[in-house]
Amino acid sequence: MDPMQRMEELVEELGKYNYHYYTLDEPLVSDKEYDALYDELVRLETETGMVLPDSPTQRVGGELLSGFTPHRHLVPLWSLDKAQNEEQLLNWNNRVVKLTSDYNAKNPDNPLPPLSYAVELKFDGLTLNLTYTDGKLVQASTRGNGVVGEGILAQVKTIKSVPLTIPFRDGTIEVQGEGIMNLSVLEAYNKQAAEPLKNARNAAAGALRNLDPKTTAKRKLSAYFYNVGYAENITFRDHREMMNFLRTNKFKVNPFISYFDDFSEVAAQLQQIQEQRSSLDYLIDGAVVKITDMRTREVLGYTDKFPRWAVAYKFEAEETTTVLESVSWNV
Ligand code: NAD
Repeated sequence: MDPMQRMEELVEELGKYNYHYYTLDEPLVSDKEYDALYDELVRLETETGMVLPDSPTQRVGGELLSGFTPHRHLVPLWSLDKAQNEEQLLNWNNRVVKLTSDYNAKNPDNPLPPLSYAVELKFDGLTLNLTYTDGKLVQASTRGNGVVGEGILAQVKTIKSVPLTIPFRDGTIEVQGEGIMNLSVLEAYNKQAAEPLKNARNAAAGALRNLDPKTTAKRKLSAYFYNVGYAENITFRDHREMMNFLRTNKFKVNPFISYFDDFSEVAAQLQQIQEQRSSLDYLIDGAVVKITDMRTREVLGYTDKFPRWAVAYKFEAEETTTVLESVSWNV
């Protein structure tokens, strides 16, 4: 088939899947099927050097639901570059090494520190962006299209672990995390529900993007926070400092973050997470590898869609609601 014709088909098909996934929270296909079509489109765009105007490779997320007040994020919320195998992970790291070495060659008097990596779980729920002004939660929103999200403050306030006030009172900050439904909570919910929920990701996303906060409250959601996207009057030197800031300010931060100076150890950690995944009480669809140093992040910068300083290592979709015993973790 003519590559342009195939690209048009793929853009249309992926557009339909995006609408069902991001806007309706009712996916038509598995993530694996979606990713295979998406990768085919990326390959054709690379081969032809052409990108159709509506291509999902150039956009974050989907359309906003009407009924919610739009919130313009103080800094954009990004998607993540992804790697599906070790080779793709190595390619990502090689790009990082090259860009930082080029920078150091041009700036011998002010080189970047040696590379180091944080490895975190990639939660499979709904992205949350919380805005605090002078210590008070004043807005909460979805990622939306990355620039503007849906205001869901009343819904997010039903998540008991989200702090309504924080000790940091020095201006405005925006923090990002993932709203999730624990698998044990989903199981308990389904035991008494007239209409059982199929999947924890859609259960969380659908509840948060429901106009009635009482419906959200019934789902007993939780949230883990992993980023400070915007902050007035405070800067962080590295990821550890940022995580400490989140913990000090009473946000729930997932304990399974590990740090490595040697990239060769990252792959082993990803393998370990994959093996222990089914014992967690929440869905993850992979792990995220992030460069820890903030100055290095700035130098690496962003594409139109994702930061160059992070990559999602994707696992195969898992729809289980089984909870096994808790595991010991190498952190
Ligand atoms: P992404 O996979 O690119 O990841 C970005 C998101 O990861 C962030 O918004 C954040 O909320 C989340 N995240 C979780 N833990 C994180 C952590 N520790 N650090 C940073 N971010 C973290 O998200 P995307 O761009 O929304 O999605 C693309 C993926 O969504 C596809 O690869 C596909 O698998 C899935 N998708 C599926 C369908 C479908 O129909 N099945 C449709 C569209 C997208």
